[in-house]
Amino acid sequence: MKITDLRCAVIANSPVVQIRTDEGITGWGQIETPKPYVKPQVLDLKDWIVGQDPRDVERVMRRIRVRGGFKPFGAAVSAIEHALWDIAGKALNTPTYRLLGGKVRDKVRTYRTLYQAEVPGGAPHTPDGYRKWAEYGKSLKGEFTLFKLPSAYHSSMVRDFPDYYYGEVQTDAPFPYPHKGTMTKEGFDHLVACITAAKEALGPGYNTAVDAGPGFMPIDALRLAKAVEHLHLMWLEDMITGDYVPYVNHDLYADITRHTTTPIHTGEQIYLRQNYKHLIESHAVNVVGPDPADVGGLAEIKWVAEHADLHGIAMAPHGTANGIIGLAALIQVCATMPDNLIAFEYPARFEPFWYDITEGFDGMPVKGGLIDVPDRPGLGINFIVKEAKKYLTEGDANFFD
Ligand SMILES: [Mg+2]
Repeated sequence: MKITDLRCAVIANSPVVQIRTDEGITGWGQIETPKPYVKPQVLDLKDWIVGQDPRDVERVMRRIRVRGGFKPFGAAVSAIEHALWDIAGKALNTPTYRLLGGKVRDKVRTYRTLYQAEVPGGAPHTPDGYRKWAEYGKSLKGEFTLFKLPSAYHSSMVRDFPDYYYGEVQTDAPFPYPHKGTMTKEGFDHLVACITAAKEALGPGYNTAVDAGPGFMPIDALRLAKAVEHLHLMWLEDMITGDYVPYVNHDLYADITRHTTTPIHTGEQIYLRQNYKHLIESHAVNVVGPDPADVGGLAEIKWVAEHADLHGIAMAPHGTANGIIGLAALIQVCATMPDNLIAFEYPARFEPFWYDITEGFDGMPVKGGLIDVPDRPGLGINFIVKEAKKYLTEGDANFFD
Protein backbone atom coordinates (compact mmCIF):
# COMPACT_ATOMS: atom_id res chain seq x y z
CA MET A 1 0.00 0.00 0.00
CA LYS A 2 1.24 3.48 -0.88
CA ILE A 3 0.24 6.98 0.16
CA THR A 4 -0.96 8.87 -2.90
CA ASP A 5 -2.06 12.20 -1.47
CA LEU A 6 -2.15 14.38 1.65
CA ARG A 7 -4.90 16.99 1.87
CA CYS A 8 -6.08 19.46 4.46
CA ALA A 9 -9.34 21.43 4.63
CA VAL A 10 -10.36 23.92 7.30
CA ILE A 11 -13.90 23.04 8.44
CA ALA A 12 -15.40 25.41 11.04
CA ASN A 13 -11.91 26.70 11.89
CA SER A 14 -10.58 23.16 12.45
CA PRO A 15 -8.04 21.74 9.97
CA VAL A 16 -9.01 18.22 8.87
CA VAL A 17 -6.20 16.04 7.52
CA GLN A 18 -6.86 13.44 4.84
CA ILE A 19 -4.38 10.80 3.65
CA ARG A 20 -5.28 8.82 0.54
CA THR A 21 -3.83 5.50 -0.59
CA ASP A 22 -3.60 3.48 -3.80
CA GLU A 23 -5.89 0.85 -2.24
CA GLY A 24 -8.80 3.20 -1.69
CA ILE A 25 -8.42 3.39 2.09
CA THR A 26 -8.52 6.94 3.47
CA GLY A 27 -7.18 8.07 6.84
CA TRP A 28 -8.39 11.06 8.88
CA GLY A 29 -6.84 13.32 11.46
CA GLN A 30 -7.89 16.63 13.00
CA ILE A 31 -6.13 19.69 14.38
CA GLU A 32 -7.40 21.89 17.23
CA THR A 33 -10.16 24.33 16.38
CA PRO A 34 -8.14 27.51 17.09
CA LYS A 35 -5.38 26.51 14.64
CA PRO A 36 -6.59 27.08 11.05
CA TYR A 37 -3.16 28.56 10.31
CA VAL A 38 -1.59 25.09 10.57
CA LYS A 39 -3.00 24.02 7.18
CA PRO A 40 0.06 25.15 5.16
CA GLN A 41 2.33 23.24 7.56
CA VAL A 42 0.35 20.06 6.89
CA LEU A 43 0.57 20.52 3.13
CA ASP A 44 4.31 21.20 3.35
CA LEU A 45 4.77 17.62 4.60
CA LYS A 46 3.11 16.01 1.57
CA ASP A 47 6.31 15.39 -0.39
CA TRP A 48 7.86 13.65 2.63
CA ILE A 49 5.17 10.97 2.89
CA VAL A 50 3.70 10.35 -0.60
CA GLY A 51 4.88 6.98 -1.91
CA GLN A 52 5.40 5.53 1.59
CA ASP A 53 3.45 2.57 3.03
CA PRO A 54 1.11 4.19 5.61
CA ARG A 55 0.91 0.95 7.63
CA ASP A 56 4.59 1.36 8.55
CA VAL A 57 3.58 4.22 10.81
CA GLU A 58 6.94 4.65 12.54
CA ARG A 59 8.86 4.53 9.29
CA VAL A 60 6.74 7.36 7.89
CA MET A 61 6.97 9.35 11.12
CA ARG A 62 10.77 9.19 11.07
CA ARG A 63 10.60 11.23 7.86
CA ILE A 64 8.55 14.07 9.34
CA ARG A 65 8.91 14.04 13.14
CA VAL A 66 11.81 16.50 13.08
CA ARG A 67 9.62 18.99 11.25
CA GLY A 68 7.42 19.72 14.29
CA GLY A 69 7.86 21.64 17.53
CA PHE A 70 6.18 22.71 20.77
CA LYS A 71 2.50 23.76 20.52
CA PRO A 72 1.20 24.86 18.04
CA PHE A 73 3.91 23.44 15.76
CA GLY A 74 3.45 19.78 16.69
CA ALA A 75 -0.10 19.69 15.39
CA ALA A 76 0.57 18.97 11.70
CA VAL A 77 2.90 16.04 12.43
CA SER A 78 0.51 14.70 15.09
CA ALA A 79 -2.62 14.80 12.92
CA ILE A 80 -0.78 13.02 10.11
CA GLU A 81 0.23 10.32 12.61
CA HIS A 82 -3.43 9.89 13.63
CA ALA A 83 -4.42 9.47 9.97
CA LEU A 84 -1.70 6.84 9.48
CA TRP A 85 -3.02 4.80 12.44
CA ASP A 86 -6.52 5.20 11.02
CA ILE A 87 -5.37 3.66 7.73
CA ALA A 88 -3.36 0.93 9.47
CA GLY A 89 -6.45 -0.10 11.43
CA LYS A 90 -8.80 0.06 8.47
CA ALA A 91 -6.37 -2.00 6.35
CA LEU A 92 -6.56 -4.80 8.93
CA ASN A 93 -10.25 -4.19 9.68
CA THR A 94 -9.39 -3.68 13.34
CA PRO A 95 -9.63 -0.76 15.78
CA THR A 96 -6.42 1.22 16.20
CA TYR A 97 -6.17 0.35 19.90
CA ARG A 98 -5.22 -3.22 18.93
CA LEU A 99 -2.20 -1.86 17.06
CA LEU A 100 -1.15 0.24 20.06
CA GLY A 101 -0.87 -2.73 22.39
CA GLY A 102 -4.53 -3.61 22.89
CA LYS A 103 -7.08 -2.13 25.24
CA VAL A 104 -6.79 -2.51 29.00
CA ARG A 105 -10.26 -1.05 29.68
CA ASP A 106 -13.65 -1.17 27.92
CA LYS A 107 -14.69 2.33 29.01
CA VAL A 108 -12.50 5.41 29.16
CA ARG A 109 -13.08 8.20 31.67
CA THR A 110 -13.23 11.74 30.36
CA TYR A 111 -13.26 15.06 32.19
CA ARG A 112 -14.93 18.28 31.21
CA THR A 113 -13.26 21.66 31.15
CA LEU A 114 -16.04 24.08 31.85
CA TYR A 115 -15.54 27.59 30.54
CA GLN A 116 -17.10 30.39 32.54
CA ALA A 117 -18.42 31.97 29.31
CA GLU A 118 -20.55 28.91 28.45
CA VAL A 119 -22.49 29.10 31.73
CA PRO A 120 -25.91 30.59 30.87
CA GLY A 121 -25.84 34.24 31.91
CA GLY A 122 -22.08 33.96 32.49
CA ALA A 123 -20.13 33.03 35.59
CA PRO A 124 -17.88 35.90 36.65
CA HIS A 125 -14.61 35.33 38.52
CA THR A 126 -16.21 35.70 41.93
CA PRO A 127 -17.17 33.07 44.53
CA ASP A 128 -20.83 33.39 43.44
CA GLY A 129 -19.82 33.01 39.80
CA TYR A 130 -17.82 29.89 40.63
CA ARG A 131 -20.82 28.40 42.46
CA LYS A 132 -22.89 28.96 39.29
CA TRP A 133 -20.12 27.29 37.33
CA ALA A 134 -20.33 24.22 39.55
CA GLU A 135 -24.11 23.94 39.35
CA TYR A 136 -24.00 24.25 35.56
CA GLY A 137 -21.36 21.51 35.34
CA LYS A 138 -23.51 19.14 37.35
CA SER A 139 -26.45 19.76 35.02
CA LEU A 140 -24.53 18.87 31.83
CA LYS A 141 -25.41 15.94 29.61
CA GLY A 142 -22.90 13.13 30.06
CA GLU A 143 -22.97 13.17 33.88
CA PHE A 144 -19.33 14.17 34.11
CA THR A 145 -17.83 13.56 37.54
CA LEU A 146 -14.55 15.40 36.98
CA PHE A 147 -14.30 19.03 35.88
CA LYS A 148 -11.54 21.51 35.16
CA LEU A 149 -11.83 25.13 36.13
CA PRO A 150 -9.96 27.80 34.14
CA SER A 151 -8.81 30.42 36.65
CA ALA A 152 -6.08 32.87 37.69
CA TYR A 153 -3.69 33.59 34.77
CA HIS A 154 -5.56 31.04 32.64
CA SER A 155 -8.65 33.23 32.63
CA SER A 156 -9.85 36.83 32.62
CA MET A 157 -9.57 36.93 36.46
CA VAL A 158 -6.31 38.77 36.00
CA ARG A 159 -8.20 41.57 34.20
CA ASP A 160 -11.45 41.43 36.14
CA PHE A 161 -10.11 41.64 39.70
CA PRO A 162 -8.51 45.04 40.41
CA ASP A 163 -4.78 44.93 41.25
CA TYR A 164 -4.68 41.17 40.83
CA TYR A 165 -0.91 41.13 40.44
CA TYR A 166 2.18 43.32 40.22
CA GLY A 167 2.28 43.81 36.47
CA GLU A 168 0.63 45.59 33.58
CA VAL A 169 -2.72 44.13 32.58
CA GLN A 170 -3.06 43.97 28.79
CA THR A 171 -6.57 44.83 27.69
CA ASP A 172 -5.96 45.35 23.97
CA ALA A 173 -4.10 42.08 23.21
CA PRO A 174 -5.84 38.93 21.93
CA PHE A 175 -7.01 36.76 24.83
CA PRO A 176 -5.39 34.94 26.53
CA TYR A 177 -2.44 37.29 26.80
CA PRO A 178 0.46 35.64 28.67
CA HIS A 179 0.34 37.70 31.86
CA LYS A 180 2.98 36.77 34.42
CA GLY A 181 4.03 38.13 37.80
CA THR A 182 3.69 38.15 41.57
CA MET A 183 0.13 38.22 42.92
CA THR A 184 -1.07 40.74 45.46
CA LYS A 185 -2.36 39.28 48.72
CA GLU A 186 -5.84 40.45 47.75
CA GLY A 187 -5.61 38.75 44.33
CA PHE A 188 -4.31 35.56 45.89
CA ASP A 189 -7.02 35.46 48.57
CA HIS A 190 -9.69 36.08 45.92
CA LEU A 191 -8.40 33.15 43.86
CA VAL A 192 -8.49 30.81 46.87
CA ALA A 193 -12.03 31.98 47.75
CA CYS A 194 -13.24 31.29 44.20
CA ILE A 195 -11.72 27.80 44.00
CA THR A 196 -13.10 26.97 47.44
CA ALA A 197 -16.59 28.12 46.44
CA ALA A 198 -16.54 25.96 43.29
CA LYS A 199 -15.31 22.87 45.12
CA GLU A 200 -17.84 23.21 47.92
CA ALA A 201 -20.70 23.78 45.45
CA LEU A 202 -19.76 20.66 43.52
CA GLY A 203 -20.12 18.61 46.68
CA PRO A 204 -19.57 14.87 47.13
CA GLY A 205 -19.26 12.68 44.05
CA TYR A 206 -17.49 15.31 41.97
CA ASN A 207 -13.85 16.18 41.63
CA THR A 208 -12.16 19.17 40.08
CA ALA A 209 -8.85 20.34 38.73
CA VAL A 210 -7.81 23.96 38.25
CA ASP A 211 -6.07 25.25 35.11
CA ALA A 212 -4.30 28.25 36.57
CA GLY A 213 -1.44 29.44 34.37
CA PRO A 214 1.07 29.87 32.99
CA GLY A 215 2.12 33.05 34.77
CA PHE A 216 2.75 32.22 38.43
CA MET A 217 5.97 33.04 40.19
CA PRO A 218 7.04 29.80 41.90
CA ILE A 219 6.42 31.01 45.45
CA ASP A 220 2.82 31.96 44.62
CA ALA A 221 2.37 28.57 42.99
CA LEU A 222 3.54 26.85 46.16
CA ARG A 223 1.38 29.13 48.31
CA LEU A 224 -1.68 28.21 46.23
CA ALA A 225 -0.93 24.51 46.27
CA LYS A 226 -0.61 24.55 50.06
CA ALA A 227 -3.66 26.80 50.58
CA VAL A 228 -5.95 24.35 48.77
CA GLU A 229 -4.51 21.07 50.07
CA HIS A 230 -7.60 20.42 52.19
CA LEU A 231 -9.83 20.66 49.07
CA HIS A 232 -8.24 17.54 47.54
CA LEU A 233 -8.08 18.96 44.00
CA MET A 234 -7.18 16.45 41.30
CA TRP A 235 -4.43 18.77 40.10
CA LEU A 236 -3.25 22.36 39.61
CA GLU A 237 -2.33 22.80 35.94
CA ASP A 238 0.41 24.73 34.17
CA MET A 239 1.08 27.24 36.92
CA ILE A 240 4.68 28.01 35.84
CA THR A 241 4.87 26.99 32.18
CA GLY A 242 2.32 25.30 29.93
CA ASP A 243 -0.12 26.32 27.23
CA TYR A 244 1.90 27.70 24.27
CA VAL A 245 5.10 28.16 26.33
CA PRO A 246 7.96 26.75 24.23
CA TYR A 247 9.96 25.39 27.20
CA VAL A 248 9.31 23.39 30.40
CA ASN A 249 11.25 24.71 33.45
CA HIS A 250 11.09 21.34 35.19
CA ASP A 251 13.38 22.53 38.02
CA LEU A 252 10.89 25.21 39.10
CA TYR A 253 8.08 22.64 39.06
CA ALA A 254 10.16 20.23 41.13
CA ASP A 255 10.61 22.87 43.86
CA ILE A 256 6.83 23.16 44.19
CA THR A 257 5.91 19.50 43.79
CA ARG A 258 8.19 18.36 46.61
CA HIS A 259 6.57 20.68 49.13
CA THR A 260 2.84 20.07 48.73
CA THR A 261 0.28 17.28 48.61
CA THR A 262 -1.75 19.07 45.93
CA PRO A 263 -0.91 17.28 42.65
CA ILE A 264 1.03 19.50 40.24
CA HIS A 265 0.38 19.08 36.50
CA THR A 266 1.84 20.31 33.22
CA GLY A 267 2.57 19.27 29.64
CA GLU A 268 -0.10 20.16 27.07
CA GLN A 269 2.35 22.17 24.96
CA ILE A 270 5.24 19.69 25.01
CA TYR A 271 6.28 18.03 21.74
CA LEU A 272 7.80 14.52 21.72
CA ARG A 273 8.80 12.03 24.38
CA GLN A 274 12.33 13.47 24.51
CA ASN A 275 10.98 16.71 25.94
CA TYR A 276 9.14 14.78 28.67
CA LYS A 277 12.23 12.82 29.66
CA HIS A 278 13.67 15.14 32.29
CA LEU A 279 10.26 16.28 33.58
CA ILE A 280 9.30 12.66 34.28
CA GLU A 281 12.64 11.30 35.44
CA SER A 282 13.16 14.20 37.87
CA HIS A 283 9.66 13.67 39.32
CA ALA A 284 9.06 17.38 38.74
CA VAL A 285 5.26 17.00 38.58
CA ASN A 286 2.64 14.49 39.75
CA VAL A 287 0.47 14.53 36.61
CA VAL A 288 1.31 15.09 32.94
CA GLY A 289 -1.17 16.16 30.29
CA PRO A 290 0.22 15.66 26.78
CA ASP A 291 -2.20 16.21 23.93
CA PRO A 292 -2.07 13.47 21.29
CA ALA A 293 -2.77 16.15 18.68
CA ASP A 294 0.29 18.18 19.76
CA VAL A 295 2.80 15.77 21.31
CA GLY A 296 3.51 13.92 18.06
CA GLY A 297 0.67 11.43 17.89
CA LEU A 298 -0.88 8.36 19.48
CA ALA A 299 2.23 6.20 19.71
CA GLU A 300 4.08 9.18 21.15
CA ILE A 301 1.58 9.81 23.95
CA LYS A 302 1.44 6.06 24.68
CA TRP A 303 5.22 6.10 25.18
CA VAL A 304 4.95 9.12 27.52
CA ALA A 305 2.16 7.38 29.47
CA GLU A 306 4.25 4.24 30.01
CA HIS A 307 7.33 6.25 31.00
CA ALA A 308 5.26 8.36 33.41
CA ASP A 309 3.75 5.23 34.96
CA LEU A 310 7.21 3.81 35.60
CA HIS A 311 7.94 6.97 37.60
CA GLY A 312 4.68 7.14 39.56
CA ILE A 313 3.28 10.04 37.54
CA ALA A 314 -0.38 10.15 36.50
CA MET A 315 -1.80 10.90 33.03
CA ALA A 316 -4.57 13.37 32.21
CA PRO A 317 -4.31 13.95 28.44
CA HIS A 318 -5.32 17.35 27.07
CA GLY A 319 -7.87 17.59 24.24
CA THR A 320 -10.37 20.40 24.71
CA ALA A 321 -10.40 21.60 21.08
CA ASN A 322 -9.42 18.40 19.25
CA GLY A 323 -12.74 17.96 17.46
CA ILE A 324 -14.67 14.81 16.69
CA ILE A 325 -11.77 12.96 15.05
CA GLY A 326 -9.51 14.04 17.90
CA LEU A 327 -12.09 12.62 20.31
CA ALA A 328 -12.04 9.30 18.46
CA ALA A 329 -8.23 9.27 18.60
CA LEU A 330 -8.18 10.05 22.34
CA ILE A 331 -10.54 7.15 23.06
CA GLN A 332 -8.40 4.70 21.07
CA VAL A 333 -5.12 5.55 22.75
CA CYS A 334 -6.50 6.08 26.27
CA ALA A 335 -8.00 2.58 26.09
CA THR A 336 -4.42 1.28 25.92
CA MET A 337 -2.79 3.39 28.65
CA PRO A 338 -1.52 1.92 31.92
CA ASP A 339 -3.20 2.37 35.29
CA ASN A 340 -1.82 5.89 35.75
CA LEU A 341 -4.59 7.24 33.47
CA ILE A 342 -6.98 9.53 35.38
CA ALA A 343 -9.12 10.77 32.49
CA PHE A 344 -8.73 12.62 29.19
CA GLU A 345 -10.09 16.08 28.53
CA TYR A 346 -13.34 15.88 26.56
CA PRO A 347 -13.16 17.88 23.30
CA ALA A 348 -16.24 19.90 24.14
CA ARG A 349 -15.49 22.71 21.75
CA PHE A 350 -17.03 21.39 18.54
CA GLU A 351 -20.42 22.16 17.09
CA PRO A 352 -23.17 19.50 16.98
CA PHE A 353 -23.15 19.48 13.15
CA TRP A 354 -20.01 17.30 13.25
CA TYR A 355 -22.24 14.39 14.32
CA ASP A 356 -24.30 14.97 11.15
CA ILE A 357 -21.36 14.99 8.74
CA THR A 358 -19.57 11.93 10.14
CA GLU A 359 -20.43 8.36 11.01
CA GLY A 360 -18.98 6.77 14.13
CA PHE A 361 -20.70 8.45 17.07
CA ASP A 362 -24.39 8.20 17.71
CA GLY A 363 -24.48 11.66 19.28
CA MET A 364 -22.58 12.80 22.36
CA PRO A 365 -20.99 9.57 23.64
CA VAL A 366 -20.40 10.32 27.35
CA LYS A 367 -22.47 8.50 29.99
CA GLY A 368 -21.65 8.73 33.67
CA GLY A 369 -18.40 10.47 32.71
CA LEU A 370 -17.33 7.42 30.66
CA ILE A 371 -17.17 6.52 26.96
CA ASP A 372 -17.44 2.99 25.59
CA VAL A 373 -14.40 2.05 23.51
CA PRO A 374 -15.74 1.36 20.01
CA ASP A 375 -14.71 -1.58 17.85
CA ARG A 376 -14.99 0.13 14.48
CA PRO A 377 -11.89 -0.17 12.23
CA GLY A 378 -9.16 2.44 12.61
CA LEU A 379 -10.15 5.47 14.64
CA GLY A 380 -13.79 4.64 13.92
CA ILE A 381 -14.73 7.85 12.10
CA ASN A 382 -15.63 8.44 8.45
CA PHE A 383 -17.13 11.43 6.72
CA ILE A 384 -20.59 11.38 5.18
CA VAL A 385 -19.32 13.20 2.13
CA LYS A 386 -22.65 14.51 0.86
CA GLU A 387 -23.32 16.21 4.21
CA ALA A 388 -19.74 17.25 4.94
CA LYS A 389 -19.37 19.02 1.59
CA LYS A 390 -21.87 21.63 2.74
CA TYR A 391 -19.34 22.85 5.31
CA LEU A 392 -16.37 23.25 2.96
CA THR A 393 -15.24 26.77 2.16
CA GLU A 394 -14.61 27.84 -1.41
CA GLY A 395 -10.88 27.14 -1.39
CA ASP A 396 -11.43 23.59 -0.12
CA ALA A 397 -14.41 22.74 -2.35
CA ASN A 398 -12.67 19.70 -3.93
CA PHE A 399 -11.45 18.22 -0.62
CA PHE A 400 -13.56 15.06 -0.86
CA ASP A 401 -13.39 14.64 -4.69
MG1 LIG B 1 -4.42 23.66 30.16
